[in-house]
Amino acid sequence: MTTTQGDSGVLAGEERMLVDGALVDATGGARFDVVHPASEEVVGQAADGTVDDLSRAVAAARRAFDAGDWARDVQFRHRCLIQLHDALEANKERLRRILITEVGCPVTVTGSQIESPVAEVKHWAEHGRDFDYLVDTGSHETALGPARRKLNYEPLGVVGAITPWNVPLYLNIAETVPALMAGNTVVLKPAQLTPWSGSELGRIVAEETDIPAGVFNVVTSNANEVGAALSADPRVDMITFTGSTATGRAILAASAPTVKKTLLELGGKSAHIVLDDADFGSALPMAAMMACVMSGQSCVLPSRILLPRSRYDEGLAVLQSSMENFPMGDPWTPGNMQGPQVSETQRQKVLDLIASGRDSGARLVTGGGVPESLPVGYYVQPTLLADVDPDSRIAQEEIFGPVLTVTPYDTEEQAVAIANNSIYGLSGEVSGADVDRAFAVAQRMRTGNVTINGKSHFGITSPFGGTKQSGLGYRNGEQGFTEYLHIKTIGMPQ
Ligand code: ADP
Repeated sequence: MTTTQGDSGVLAGEERMLVDGALVDATGGARFDVVHPASEEVVGQAADGTVDDLSRAVAAARRAFDAGDWARDVQFRHRCLIQLHDALEANKERLRRILITEVGCPVTVTGSQIESPVAEVKHWAEHGRDFDYLVDTGSHETALGPARRKLNYEPLGVVGAITPWNVPLYLNIAETVPALMAGNTVVLKPAQLTPWSGSELGRIVAEETDIPAGVFNVVTSNANEVGAALSADPRVDMITFTGSTATGRAILAASAPTVKKTLLELGGKSAHIVLDDADFGSALPMAAMMACVMSGQSCVLPSRILLPRSRYDEGLAVLQSSMENFPMGDPWTPGNMQGPQVSETQRQKVLDLIASGRDSGARLVTGGGVPESLPVGYYVQPTLLADVDPDSRIAQEEIFGPVLTVTPYDTEEQAVAIANNSIYGLSGEVSGADVDRAFAVAQRMRTGNVTINGKSHFGITSPFGGTKQSGLGYRNGEQGFTEYLHIKTIGMPQ
C-alpha cells in the first residue's frame, strides 16, 4: 500500500453562485465550509443559497426560456456551447485541482471526471446542431380523410438539475449540457459536499461565454430544502437528478403535484456473475479495481461478486491479493488509485455496513477498518467479505465504499436469481470464456446495463438508464438528448 504524501495542490473554487447572469453571494451573505477529505481541513467556502435565491434563479430561467432566443436559435446555442467547451478546456487543470480538493479523487484517475465531460460538451453541441427538429411523417389515413403529420421536437422549458458529489463536474455537465443544447434553460443545484464543481461552471459560463443571462443558473446551498424547492416549483418543467434512491423518491413526490417530467439515475447494488469458465486472472483483479478506484463511490459498481462454488476459494484468493495490493493513499500522489471517502459521515456509513455484514455472519477476508498508515483523511481499507447471505443488509444496501461482498452459487439459475434479488436494477456484469453463454446470462439480468468480460456498456453514444428502483429514463445516446425534448405532433392539410 502506497503511503507517501504528495504535494498538495489544494485549490479553492468560486464562492459565488450564478443567478440571472450575475455572480452573486447568497441572500444575507451566508456561506458554508468546504472540507478536503484527504486532510480533513476546511479549505474554503461556498455561498449558502436560500430558497429565495433559488426562486430568483427559476424566475430568470423562466424568463430566458419564454422571452429569449435560446429556445429558438440552434446555431446560437451551438456557438455558445462550443465557447463553453473551449473555456472548459482552457480551465481543465484548475477544474482538476478543485475536483481533487472537494472529492479526494486521486489525480491519476481524474481523466473520466475531467477530460471526458469536457469532450462531451462538444459532442452535445454537435449532436444538437445536427438533430432534425422537424420530421415530416407524410400522409396518414383518418376518419375525416388523409392528414399530413409533422413531428416538431421542442424544448420542455426550465430544467432543474440536482447533482451528487461523487463525480460532480461530470454529472453537472451530463445533466445540463444536453438540456441546454436542446433549447431548455437550466437551474443547477450541486451537492453540498462539492459546491465548487458547480460554481466554477457558473463562473466560466458568466465570464467566458455568450450564454445569455438566465439561461444557465447555479445555486449552491448547504440545505436540502433548496433541491426540494426546485423539485416542487411550478415554473420548472423537468427535474434531472442523480443520487440516492431515497432522494429520488422525495423528488418524485415533490414533482407529482405539477406532473413534472423526471429523469432519475438512482442507486445500484450491481451483481457480477463470474461463470465457472471465466478467466479469474483478468476478471477478478478488475473487479477489485472497480471497487477501490473511486473509493467505491460509484453507482454502477458491481459490488456483489457471485462465484461458482467449484472455484470459490480460488476466486477469493485472487480478490484478496488484488485488494491487499491496491495503491491507496494521498490523492495528489501520482500512482495512487484509491483516495479517501468524501466525508467522515460517508466513511462512518461504510464502516457501519461492514460491521452489519460481520454481524449477519459474513467472513471478513481482508480490510474492514481504517488503515493505520493513513490516520488523517477519511480512508477505508479495501474490504472483502465472503459467505455473504444474499438477503442480508450488506447484500441489499448500497455501500458506496471500497467493499466487495462474495456469495457462492451452485447453478447458473441460482446465480441469476441471486443477482436479481435486489430492489435495484442499475447495471451488472458477467465474466465467462464462452461469450454466447455469458450473453444469455446478461439477457436474464433485470438491470439497465450489463458489462461482459470487462467490456464497458457506458459511454456518450449509448443509452444508460436503470430499471426497478434505480431510475427512470436515459442519459447518453440519442435517447439522452430526446429526453429533454417534447414531440409535438401537428396534423395539417396535405
Ligand atoms: P447523498 O445522500 O449521498 O448526499 P443524495 O442523493 O441525498 O446523496 O443527494 C444528491 C443531491 O440531492 C444533492 O444535491 C442534495 O442536495 C440533493 N437533495 C437532497 N435531498 C433532497 C430533496 N429532498 N429534494 C431534492 N434534492 C435533494
